[in-house]
Amino acid sequence: MNKPLSPSPSNFIRTIIDGDLESGKHKTIVTRFPPEPNGYLHIGHAKSICLNFGLARDYGGRCHLRFDDTNPTRDYEDYMESIKEDVRWLGFDWGEHLYYASDYFDQLYEFAIELIKQGKAYVCSLTQDEIREYRGTLTEPGRESPYRNRSVEENLDLFERMRKGEFADGEHVLRAKIDMASPNVVMRDPILYRIRHVSHPRTGDKWCIYPMYDFTHCLSDALEGITHSICTLEFENNRPLYEWILEQVFPEPHPQQIEFARLNLNYTVMSKRKLLRLVESGVVNGWDDPRLPTISGLRRRGYTPEAIRDFAERIGVAKANSVVDYALLEHCLRDDLNERAERTMAVLRPLKVVITNYPEGQVEYLEGVNNPQDPAAGTRQIPFTREIYIEREDFEEDPPKKFFRLAPGREVRLRFAYFIKCTDVIKDEMGNIIEVHCTYDPETKGGSAPDGRKVKGTIHWVSAEHSLPAEVRVYDHLFTTEDPNEGELLENINPNSLEIITDARVEPRMRSAKPFDRFQFERLGYFCVDPDTTEDRLVFNRTVPLRDTWAKVQKS
Ligand code: ATP
Ligand code: MG
Repeated sequence: MNKPLSPSPSNFIRTIIDGDLESGKHKTIVTRFPPEPNGYLHIGHAKSICLNFGLARDYGGRCHLRFDDTNPTRDYEDYMESIKEDVRWLGFDWGEHLYYASDYFDQLYEFAIELIKQGKAYVCSLTQDEIREYRGTLTEPGRESPYRNRSVEENLDLFERMRKGEFADGEHVLRAKIDMASPNVVMRDPILYRIRHVSHPRTGDKWCIYPMYDFTHCLSDALEGITHSICTLEFENNRPLYEWILEQVFPEPHPQQIEFARLNLNYTVMSKRKLLRLVESGVVNGWDDPRLPTISGLRRRGYTPEAIRDFAERIGVAKANSVVDYALLEHCLRDDLNERAERTMAVLRPLKVVITNYPEGQVEYLEGVNNPQDPAAGTRQIPFTREIYIEREDFEEDPPKKFFRLAPGREVRLRFAYFIKCTDVIKDEMGNIIEVHCTYDPETKGGSAPDGRKVKGTIHWVSAEHSLPAEVRVYDHLFTTEDPNEGELLENINPNSLEIITDARVEPRMRSAKPFDRFQFERLGYFCVDPDTTEDRLVFNRTVPLRDTWAKVQKS
């Protein structure tokens, strides 16, 4: 018997699997991730991916990637590539087990014929509206179609002619013959096949009848030897149909459908339809906009696969729907980046500081620790010069109480450098502060004074001459409301979800930064190099802010 390899927390699905291994029902666990390639994957899909591939990994089984491409009218090609890329990026591998539902069209057709022969499926010639009307409601039973008792021969003949293209779209459908009085509406003679005279991106014009999702899904699972078919709660009512179809035409053991609660996150939407609307309306700049909860958006924002997998573990799997706080996702990310992201200094809103007693033209290289969490990350040399930039908000001409940063007459520590003291404030005719003059104390190199005097604030800086200009994109939630699913989607957009800072300054080391590299800008947060970066223009995305504890904690 296979034992879990990694100590993932147990959950009701693992309990079921453990039971199936113990009873000998299954020897190898086979799961699948079955996206419809009609959009980019989002963080909700990541939950499902981590669950399915995680089970396969932990039980020494396998997980298939299967594209649900039953709907012939869709153009799936672009989306398939992005889905593969995203699954791989998350750290999972389907090996040789990449499948397409359309691969099974031949077999599905044979299964349909088998059902007809058993007298368990019939060709129905009611119109769509009539079928709906006959179906009844949640409180009223349905009525039987007048075509329900066609003979097997007639059904075989009609179904064959449907396949051959003798009928127009909608003229007939193939339905399962189950129970029009079932309390479960799904079981009221569901449609298995419909006529659609459209070519399919993979099967071309071979078919003009296409199987419905419910018929396709369970049989695709069975054909692939899936043992546990894990899906979200909306499919609970479809489970009896899933089982019914397999019982009629497929030998045991059957895959077991297990439902779990889908991931919902506040301040965002997760339906592909809504994400598509955001993309098409131009509210965001494409599927990988860093404000979207798509995997590609999160990647561009600076998320790591490790953080997303950690998040998936922490939220766990349950049977009850709930909404997860976006802050938990960000927390998982900070945890990971804190360990791995190199520190650097950047000034988002520069204020020039002239150190009047520092020799003009002199450059001194000061050592900065790259990552206090990771000694192997080493140190770097940071150029220090007479003119530097500090963060505009680290200076106050008239400081409020508890403001411990730079102010007239005040002394602060420059990170990795010296104590400086403000001597002068230079303004333009409008009264705007354009420059601050300071003196530095050469005795305080490295950040402490030999006479033991203390400063309350430590601020970051960059050399005015050596730093590089950068564009920094600062993001906030895309929606102003916690549940943007309520109300009109485009009416709750946060007008301040993207702020573009064009004149930020970063350390010269950033010359070698590559798209998707992640850094902690000291005191400001985590930032990621955007792929819009070119030879002469650095672009960063703010991944997630820090809780600003650094300046207070780091008093060394
Ligand atoms: P959407 O509602 O975003 O269009 P979907 O369910 O139609 O999603 P599919 O491509 O059919 O998208 O989903 C592929 C798999 O991902 C399914 O097994 C589905 O259950 C799962 N999945 C989709 N959304 C979520 C979610 N929010 N949380 C967990 N799993 C999800
Ligand atoms: Mg779907």
